[in-house]
Amino acid sequence: AQPLLSVRDLQAYYRTSHSGVRRGIRAVDGVSFKVRRGEIYGLAGESSSGKTTLIKSIAGAIRPPLEIVGGSIEFAFLPGYGGLHRAPREDVERIRWRHLSYIMQGSMSVLNPVRRIKSSFVDFAYPHIGGNRTQFEQQVVDHLARVKLDPSVLAAFPHELSGGMRQRVALALATICRPGFVIADEPTTALDVVVQKEVLGMIRGIQRETGSSVLFVTHDMGVHAHITDRLAIMYAGRLVEEAATAEIFRNPQHPYTKHLISSLPRIGDDAPRQGLGGTPPNLADPPSGCRFHPRCPLASEICSREVPVMREAAAGHRVACFAVIKDNKA
Ligand code: ATP
Repeated sequence: AQPLLSVRDLQAYYRTSHSGVRRGIRAVDGVSFKVRRGEIYGLAGESSSGKTTLIKSIAGAIRPPLEIVGGSIEFAFLPGYGGLHRAPREDVERIRWRHLSYIMQGSMSVLNPVRRIKSSFVDFAYPHIGGNRTQFEQQVVDHLARVKLDPSVLAAFPHELSGGMRQRVALALATICRPGFVIADEPTTALDVVVQKEVLGMIRGIQRETGSSVLFVTHDMGVHAHITDRLAIMYAGRLVEEAATAEIFRNPQHPYTKHLISSLPRIGDDAPRQGLGGTPPNLADPPSGCRFHPRCPLASEICSREVPVMREAAAGHRVACFAVIKDNKA
């Protein structure tokens, strides 16, 4: 089946003028992946690996100094433009909330602090759902029940709710129009562990019911293990590995992925965790060849000279590493 989202060779740079010289921070630099219908696709990577920049690009939130300098982003429900940033405004308005929605960390960016929760539902969802107002309000109440919220939250202001309740409101808002695609950016990171589990369970439950695709971004590998179906690992603006989530955890191939997994805390194991060593890459002047090579225990001469591309190491398991696949030059 046709994927819901295809990202091809995307390059998104922050163009800043520094001492009169035009320079770019190459935050996303040649990223390709596809999100299938009805899956939760995870994106992992440490801070500054480019996850937020990738999401901003996909969501069409491109403002200077960020620029898309290459590649394309194709949604099945908005074909032909190569990205939301290139689509006419009326098309973007038409698909927001209805086909594509977001759950962000902290949710306050979506919920208007000076308006009651009900107004957010009326503003965002009513234009798409329409019809009789009483029926719409009943639909909102029914949908809130799915995230275990009482109808009384509709009369509240966002600051009157706990962080967990706000994230559940944001989840209800993002899913009430049953969009095909939901972008979740660290949606549970600010929550304590118990509430986090509860919200993850609700995301999974609603996703199963609606058959939506979710692009789920977090640096937290434990959360990925819990919720995502497939997982991509990002390092310094590029993907280094992609496979079914269980396969990534069982059989990681890229040295960076191996490091991420071996540094996860394990019950009953108090052995000190190995640090990665070296310094995080400077994306204004990234390392040549494989961007991970200066920190890589397996690096050989080719790694500083050639850029490894993502190739299948096994069916459905892509890796960009010369130590894993000898012949993955571009
Ligand atoms: P985090 O988990 O910390 O949010 P991230 O993986 O989402 O990290 P990005 O926020 O996409 O990473 O950042 C990627 C790179 O782009 C970093 O080097 C960052 O410093 C740089 N960057 C981000 N925003 C800007 C900006 N407005 N101007 C210039 N550079 C930026």
